Amino acid sequence: MATKIPRTPAREQDPAVRAANFEEVCYGYSAHEATLEASRCIQCKKPRCMEACPVGIKIPQFIHAALSGSFAEAARIIAQDSSLPAICGRVCPQETQCEGACVLGVKGEPVNIGKLERFVGDWSMDNNLTFAEKAAPNGRRVAVVGSGPAGLACATDLAKMGYYVKIFEALHKAGGVLEYGIPEFRLPKERVVRREVDSVRRLGVEVETDVVVGRTVTIDSLMEDEKFSAVFIGSGAGLPKFMGISGENLNGVASANEFLTRANLMKAYDRRYDTPLYVGKRVAVVGGGNVAMDAARTAKRLGADVCIVYRRSEKELPARVEEVHHAREEGIAFHLLTNPVAVLGGDSGWVRGLRCIRMALGEPDASGRRSPVAVAGSEFDVEVDVVIMSLGTSPNPLISSTTSGLEVNRRGCLVATESGATTRTGVFAGGDAVTGAATVILAMGAGRTAARAIDEYLRRK
Ligand SMILES: Cc1cc2nc3c(=O)[nH]c(=O)nc-3n(C[C@H](O)[C@H](O)[C@H](O)COP(=O)(O)OP(=O)(O)OC[C@H]3O[C@@H](n4cnc5c(N)ncnc54)[C@H](O)[C@@H]3O)c2cc1C
Ligand code: SF4
Repeated sequence: MATKIPRTPAREQDPAVRAANFEEVCYGYSAHEATLEASRCIQCKKPRCMEACPVGIKIPQFIHAALSGSFAEAARIIAQDSSLPAICGRVCPQETQCEGACVLGVKGEPVNIGKLERFVGDWSMDNNLTFAEKAAPNGRRVAVVGSGPAGLACATDLAKMGYYVKIFEALHKAGGVLEYGIPEFRLPKERVVRREVDSVRRLGVEVETDVVVGRTVTIDSLMEDEKFSAVFIGSGAGLPKFMGISGENLNGVASANEFLTRANLMKAYDRRYDTPLYVGKRVAVVGGGNVAMDAARTAKRLGADVCIVYRRSEKELPARVEEVHHAREEGIAFHLLTNPVAVLGGDSGWVRGLRCIRMALGEPDASGRRSPVAVAGSEFDVEVDVVIMSLGTSPNPLISSTTSGLEVNRRGCLVATESGATTRTGVFAGGDAVTGAATVILAMGAGRTAARAIDEYLRRK
């Protein structure tokens, strides 16, 4: 019976209105909508949704609790496996994970697990619930480098096991990409990120900001002078890539990371802040991932006409389907199968355009996607005054270059085993610092795995 109920849509801000403000796009579910959607779940005996969740959230159990209106119980069940449900409910690529595996998706529409998780996460925060079930202090100290999802998840699990955990964060606010990368209109900072970071703090985890590991302190000094028995490195992948084409050093070219950090962390979109951010009138964002969509939608909200330039086709766009859909609704233009060949400058040293070439899809490459091939003689110019490069990121080499015995691979990522052990005894790592740019939930999964490995290592020591 339950499968006959159509998927409950989540209410959203009108695209024409939201394209000019930074308020959250999606309103999420009301309690009534959440229970209605929960009633669609058929409570599979072998829940494929759960197998597809990188942190193993007990999805049917929490949905069952939500169905009977026991939202506190639903929150308790989620808290066993995730400390960031309001965040994950908003930004996880559910369509390729839990919802992608949901049995209802075979013939119809999957349960909207993401919006249910978001509702429960928000309800839990609004009702000041805490699930601080933790072991007695065991007297051992673990340092965590970076306060993104990997570091927060690792710190949460270790604190629950009784360890004293201290996070060292380079920026002045905790949260990693959740704070400095993903915009306010997708992930509100005060209402969601800050409150979920605070729930980690309430477990006794200490967070020291403005500490650059590799400069202010080193991994060696943390272990030798500050007597941390183990270290987890969750320093992410914040080093932007550029194309290496002519004109990339003109005024008006920025990396998506810098553009978004100024807008989000430094609040350039808010008139009360002095952070400078040059947006211009016409902006081209090069790339097709979530980061490109965020940069494009941010520039749009700041008043520019925006286009995305992506070298493959719609099918290969790496961004979440929902983000592409929202970007189109907000009036972002898409130049697909198009690649920049040069950034064009005027006499003043500022960008005046982007020279592009049309692409065709050839044979599949190592990633399994058909590789784009330039169509000879198809160059054309797009008039823009700002170009934002969103071509991916790699880990910053600062920590690996200041820590002996810590190996990196040819992509600059830390070498680590599946459980997170690096090539240096007592030092573990996970998240984007190991995999390169990936997702919030994979980073959290890696943080949790490493927490178990650190516990085993310290028990043996
Ligand atoms: C704009 C943008 C949008 C995204 N959208 C999505 C999305 O919708 N869904 C999704 O699942 N994923 C998304 N991602 C990817 C996701 O955010 C990352 O995969 C995830 O945050 C990685 O977590 P992490 O903990 O490994 O690293 P990060 O979140 O990068 O956190 C690393 C932290 O370490 C700190 N740090 C770095 N070096 C040092 C040092 N030397 N000393 C001290 N601290 C240091 C950094 O300041 C940072 O706070 C997006 C990424 C970006 C940039
Ligand atoms: S696979 Fe879908 S229907 Fe089955 S338990 Fe999970 S959410 Fe419910």
